[in-house]
Amino acid sequence: MESQGTGKHRVVIVGGGVAALEAALALQQLAPDSTTRTVVAPNAEYVVYAQTVREPFAHADADHYPVAPIVEAAGASLIVDALDRVDVDGKRIVTTGGQELEYDTLVLALGSKAAPCYDHALTVDPRSMAPALQRMLEGVDAGTIRSVAFVTPAGPTWPLPLYELAYLTARRASAAGHKLLTTLTTPEDRPMMRFGMIASNGVTRLLHEGGVELITSSVAEVLSPHELVITPGERRLRVDCVVALPELVGPGISGVPQDEHGFIPVDEYGRVIGAPGVFAAGDVTARPIKHGGFSSQQADAVAETIAADVGEILDPQPVEALLRGMFITGEAPLYLSARVVGGHAYDSVFTTEPTATPEGKIAARYLSQHLEQAA
Ligand SMILES: Cc1cc2nc3c(=O)[nH]c(=O)nc-3n(C[C@H](O)[C@H](O)[C@H](O)COP(=O)(O)OP(=O)(O)OC[C@H]3O[C@@H](n4cnc5c(N)ncnc54)[C@H](O)[C@@H]3O)c2cc1C
Repeated sequence: MESQGTGKHRVVIVGGGVAALEAALALQQLAPDSTTRTVVAPNAEYVVYAQTVREPFAHADADHYPVAPIVEAAGASLIVDALDRVDVDGKRIVTTGGQELEYDTLVLALGSKAAPCYDHALTVDPRSMAPALQRMLEGVDAGTIRSVAFVTPAGPTWPLPLYELAYLTARRASAAGHKLLTTLTTPEDRPMMRFGMIASNGVTRLLHEGGVELITSSVAEVLSPHELVITPGERRLRVDCVVALPELVGPGISGVPQDEHGFIPVDEYGRVIGAPGVFAAGDVTARPIKHGGFSSQQADAVAETIAADVGEILDPQPVEALLRGMFITGEAPLYLSARVVGGHAYDSVFTTEPTATPEGKIAARYLSQHLEQAA
């Protein structure tokens, strides 16, 4: 379908994170002349939140990039606003600022919301990682905090940062000459199991060497700032401090299909099931993997499918999860990767060599290249 004014297909992309920016840059490559692209995002900066785990330890901020030049490089227009609702039948969106925008194709890439699940834990918040963990780390440095439990909740979350934080905290205590009892509980049967056996074994070994006790296949209830009970087994743990990941929930956008947690159901090309003309990519989708690299691969599949819809390419590929992760250790990082097909991980790797080019915390085909060239 084409818009009447320009004869071009109007693509509106909602979001200013990995998935949205990757979709805009991919479309610029795949269908530059037959589409117009508009990005609707409230954030002036794209922050690489995955890098925030280093902030409390290295006192180095995560990279921040202004969104406007990235959108400009994608040949797209930027509207600084937020989506309020979608009118699928009318093919238009309404923003919280009251603007109405018509589209031929809509791409929803507005991420998830982090919901703290424990009243008595320090919840990891990538927007303020260093301040949130500062007091705990001061206690670790001083030797007054002698035990920390790191807790992964049962629902959807990004698991990697908690393993990194536990490892970095244990290492910091050891460097200060203090003994720290560091425990990590996770519902995963093995650490980072989505990346397959070799990567999981590598992470397990690393944590063991770092002095982190792993309690897998378990869910913790945090009873107080100093006490948790771990199921199964009803093991009670008394600690000086509890650090937890938030659970992720969908943004719950009115007018589009969503599951009970507010995530949007998509097919393997990123088409929203039950909403013609609407795609979704990234953490907002109901796919279980919440990962920046995978979000970008979803965005690439969406861009290819749109390019095929407008006749630019013939054979769009469904999303294929090639997971790549970088484990921050405080020294040289370690890399893990795997190809996930039908829920099973193949070609699992754990290595000192980068598994993506350019090397980075988030591997995104077009966005990573763009940011490297723009630097
Ligand atoms: C501490 C931490 C460490 C991580 N480590 C890794 C890692 O090592 N590797 C990896 O690949 N991934 C990692 N992740 C996960 C990764 O950051 C996410 O999976 C990824 O950011 C998801 O991308 P997204 O574009 O779907 O969503 P987001 O990056 O969350 O972007 C969503 C965008 O939508 C915008 N938005 C929200 N609401 C609206 C609205 N109503 N209207 C318009 N725009 C809206 C937001 O402003 C934002 O720009 C980590 C995450 C954290 C927090």
